[in-house]
Amino acid sequence: MSHNWFEITQFPNRIFRIREPGLGPLHSSHSWLIVGNDKALLIDTCVGIVPLSPFVRSLTSRPVICLLSHSHYDHIGGAYEFMDRRMHPAEMDILENPTPELTFWGGWLNIDSFNFLPTPNYDFSNYAIKPAPPTGLLYDGDEIDLGGRILQILHVPGHSPGLIAVYDPEIGALFSSDALYQGKMFFDLKGSDKVDARQSIRRLINLGARILYPGHYDILQDDAIVATAKSQLALLNG
Ligand SMILES: [Zn+2]
Ligand SMILES: [Zn+2]
Repeated sequence: MSHNWFEITQFPNRIFRIREPGLGPLHSSHSWLIVGNDKALLIDTCVGIVPLSPFVRSLTSRPVICLLSHSHYDHIGGAYEFMDRRMHPAEMDILENPTPELTFWGGWLNIDSFNFLPTPNYDFSNYAIKPAPPTGLLYDGDEIDLGGRILQILHVPGHSPGLIAVYDPEIGALFSSDALYQGKMFFDLKGSDKVDARQSIRRLINLGARILYPGHYDILQDDAIVATAKSQLALLNG
């Protein structure tokens, strides 16, 4: 049943991770819900196979700002379900016209990508990303005030041109999406730029984050963040 489709994990400081265990780690990105006193920020929206907003609603009653870190299918599938959608302008056109090629699910996501199906009779042939153009734009240096909690927006291109990371300086928490994680990263896609990627990873190292909540794979802390960033830099230079 679809109620088992999403796995929700709560972390300290009113942070929730939502992921889709029915898909492998390459396809299942982490969505992060960060709750403030007045509003909540949802970073990314999974693949869009099962409606996401009811699960987000079960976690918070506050108005939700939906931030799309970039335009790849594994981050934007549920974007259309949210009224307040924000992203960097560099990839906004793709949200308006989310073709299989531009969002990368064509050639990547197929029936073999599933560990299990959302429902026994689920028909993948109907899968598509619904258009969800942003209702607001985000730029490097912007801040999002959730009430008692101010988050910083970092434009960290490389993997994609409009990639955005979010930093909570109060608790040293970095939500890096596909700009940094411990696992195979992709810098050879259409729209990728390795020079930008190097610069972005160096910038993330210099933040001095204490905990990394990434777009894929494991949560990292302290020295492991720097070690992972340095090994990704070495791979980029190699
Ligand atoms: Zn991803
Ligand atoms: Zn991506």
